[in-house]
Amino acid sequence: MRCPHCECTNTKVVDSRESGTGIRRRRECALCGRRFTTYERVQMKTMMVVKRDGRREEFSRDKLWASLTKACAKRPLPVSRLENLVNDVEAKLAEQGRAEFASQSIGEMVMGRLSDLDQVAYIRFASVYLDFRDIESFKSEIDALLETGESSEDTNQLPLLDDETNAALRPGRRGRRRSPNSASE
Ligand SMILES: [Zn+2]
Repeated sequence: MRCPHCECTNTKVVDSRESGTGIRRRRECALCGRRFTTYERVQMKTMMVVKRDGRREEFSRDKLWASLTKACAKRPLPVSRLENLVNDVEAKLAEQGRAEFASQSIGEMVMGRLSDLDQVAYIRFASVYLDFRDIESFKSEIDALLETGESSEDTNQLPLLDDETNAALRPGRRGRRRSPNSASE
């Protein structure tokens, strides 16, 4: 194993732990003393994702990771939590032993876990992932969430949404009511 910092090949494992679909190892370079992480992963059977329009593409852990890190940008979330989430989703899919999954069910899996981690990231992810048909029901979900009087910390996160996310949450809806307490029509 080559050190990514100095290319020295003399590294040792200082920590090793199971993480759903593989083993995560913390290594230390004998030359420069810096630490880095490696993953040993079981080679997964190819899993296909069926999109809404019927197109299929190979399930990509990297893509899932990319969309997650985008949703979690600038959120106070340790990378390890996101790694766990991705590992967890990947393991759950593999466990089912199927060759194909609806993109919808994967999205829901991620959203379910993300909503436990960070409400803002959850909303960002959902606004990118959901299509317009779902936005209405998603909006009522958010309204319900606000009405249940989540901790003030959570509700204060909402104004931090960027404009893009706000726009995505109200397609074609002018003058969306700001008050979380107003009843839906
Ligand atoms: Zn090194």
